[in-house]
Amino acid sequence: MMRLIFLGLPGAGKGTQSERISKIFNIPQISTGDILRENVKKGTEIGKKAKSYMDEGKLVPDSIIIDMIKERLSANDCSEGYILDGFPRNIDQAKALETFSKIDKVIFIDVPTDVLIERLTGRRTCRKCKAVYHIKYNPPKNPDVCDLCGGELFQRDDDKVEVVQKRIDTYNSKTKPLIDYYKKKNILIIIDGNRNIDEITTDIEKKVKGN
Ligand code: AMP
Repeated sequence: MMRLIFLGLPGAGKGTQSERISKIFNIPQISTGDILRENVKKGTEIGKKAKSYMDEGKLVPDSIIIDMIKERLSANDCSEGYILDGFPRNIDQAKALETFSKIDKVIFIDVPTDVLIERLTGRRTCRKCKAVYHIKYNPPKNPDVCDLCGGELFQRDDDKVEVVQKRIDTYNSKTKPLIDYYKKKNILIIIDGNRNIDEITTDIEKKVKGN
């Protein structure tokens, strides 16, 4: 059983790394941001409620997020474990999570703030398969087309520079306290996220296995 949480500032590489670790250990990657964006796209009730918060770089209300994640974790594919990417985002969410799931390890990907702005504003995502690129550090062969599936690449609304600063502020005030919270529970693993993507994956894999 492997129930993992990935923590880090927006742009630290949570999405990229959790996707890779998900394949290595064959457990699903559950991104609350992806689920929310999917809901916004489809125009569901959740999507309508969440959109204005997301556009402003604020957290979506806990009541919406907690119900959403509780339901997702009850699905069959979570029986051997999962990776939570982007949840919990504050102490109340962490406490709610404890009422319906145990957590084995928390991976904090540590990256200095100045590196993040460049990373986020250069990020491009595939509309179809959700693959993530960076115009400078991990460029696709063709700037608008996904190498993997041929889908269209786009810049997330909240990766635009004004919203990025707001998301960093939100992280510092709401999410950062989780680092101490999980450190005290002795399940925190700190990973230096200012290295190349492969090195970081190898390091996480090793530390999750416990060596
Ligand atoms: P992300 O892709 O994880 O950066 O999430 C994008 C946006 O979705 C965030 O800026 C929030 O507005 C919202 N969001 C994602 N996960 C959560 C969460 N656990 N709690 C509240 N809001 C969230």
